[in-house]
This record gives sequence, structure tokens and C-alpha cells, in this order.
Amino acid sequence: MSKPILFISDLHLQDDRPDLTRALLKFLQEHQGKCEALYILGDLFEVWLGDDGITATSEAVAQGLSEFAGCGSDVYLMHGNRDFLMGTEFAARCGASLLTEPHRLHSKLGDIVLMHGDTLCTDDTEYQAFRSMVRSAAWQADFLARDLEARIAFAQQARQQSSVATAGKQDDIMDVNQASVLEFLQRVDCPRLLHGHTHRPDVHSIDLQSEIDGSSEAIRMVLGDWGERGWFSELDGEHWQLKQFSIST
Ligand code: MN
Repeated sequence: MSKPILFISDLHLQDDRPDLTRALLKFLQEHQGKCEALYILGDLFEVWLGDDGITATSEAVAQGLSEFAGCGSDVYLMHGNRDFLMGTEFAARCGASLLTEPHRLHSKLGDIVLMHGDTLCTDDTEYQAFRSMVRSAAWQADFLARDLEARIAFAQQARQQSSVATAGKQDDIMDVNQASVLEFLQRVDCPRLLHGHTHRPDVHSIDLQSEIDGSSEAIRMVLGDWGERGWFSELDGEHWQLKQFSIST
């Protein structure tokens, strides 16, 4: 019997929300040794300023994940738009491997493409411009060379600007662009996509005009952010489901 594969994203862990870290540790305990792999598809942390920016939360997560990995499940970390500076040093401390997106997972169901999801939100041109800047190797090398205090100050400013910008944006431009989704699925030639980021957990089936990999329908599963409820996707053989549970505070 093969074990299921689990996927989570958008926990947005931070020292101010110890309840969410506790929820993750409980989730890990429940699934310890019972799954083949755990994929974390971005925004595990609310903010990441470099692997030297150690917090109570980052320590608890590293310990929890490394224990989980030590019980026989592979752990994979993908960057989100908030924790894109997470590096190999921290991943190693979690017993995890860093994945670049998009990642193509081969499964009994067929291939599933995994990504955080922010690259599909192409209506938000302001955000995409910011993303191109901060994802460049030169920007990141420069940023990580600054002392931690300067990085904290930058992050606070960026967050303020982002919350002002987000408040002024129409709800729709925070979601994926449907044409970008279709274009992406055709380009990667895969009719199955799993992502997070939008905080709109759902399973969408998309009728295709032209078949992709022999299929006339594509599935786009969207993970939810953790708050009052926790969300995960479970792939068990050919059964692929979006699941949720209550997070008691
Ligand atoms: Mn995100």
C-alpha cells in the first residue's frame, strides 16, 4: 500500500499567531509517518527576511518539520510571495528540499503541476512588477547583505504599502486571471494544477477548447489559507481531494 501525499500552503505563520504554529505541529503529529510526502506550496511564513532571521516560530517549525521528515515522509518547500527569501540553510534545518515552481509531480492520477499561484494573478500588474524586482538574483543578494534591522524596516514599509494598495484594488484582480491559467496549462501540457495564494479554496473544473494531454477538462485545485480552518489537499492513489478541518484556538 502506498501512502498518500499531502499539500498545504498559506499558513502565514508568525510570532503573533502561535495558534497557527500549534495547528501545524498538530497536523504534523497526526500525519507523521503516514504519508509519502508533504508539499508546502508557499507562504508557510507571513514574512521571511533571510535564514538568519530566526524567530520563535521559525525554530518551532524547523523542529516540527525535521521530526516529521525523520519519520519517513519527504518534505518539500516552495516559495510564496511572502517567504521567497527562504534559503537552503533553513530548508536543511527542516529536513526539507526547496522546490522551484512550477513543479511537475508524477502520480497515479497523472501529472499535477504545483505552484504558489501568484504568477497567475496577471491582472495585478503593480504586484507583478514588484515580483520581478524582488525575485531577481541581484536584488536578493543586495537585500540579504543588509543587516537584519534594515531588512525588518524594509519589510514593514513594504507591508504597509501592500495593505494600502490591496485595499484600493478590486477583488477580482487579486484572483487568478482565467486566460493566464489556460495559457499556462497549455504551455506545460498538463490538465491538473494545484496552487494556493488567492485564499479562495475550491476545486474548479475547466472545459477545454482543445485537449490537453488527451483530456477535455482541466482541474484547478486551490488550497486555502489557515485561520479558523486549516486546509490541505490529499492525493491518495487516484483520489485527489481538498480537505479542511477546524483550528481550535
Ligand atoms: Mn501568497
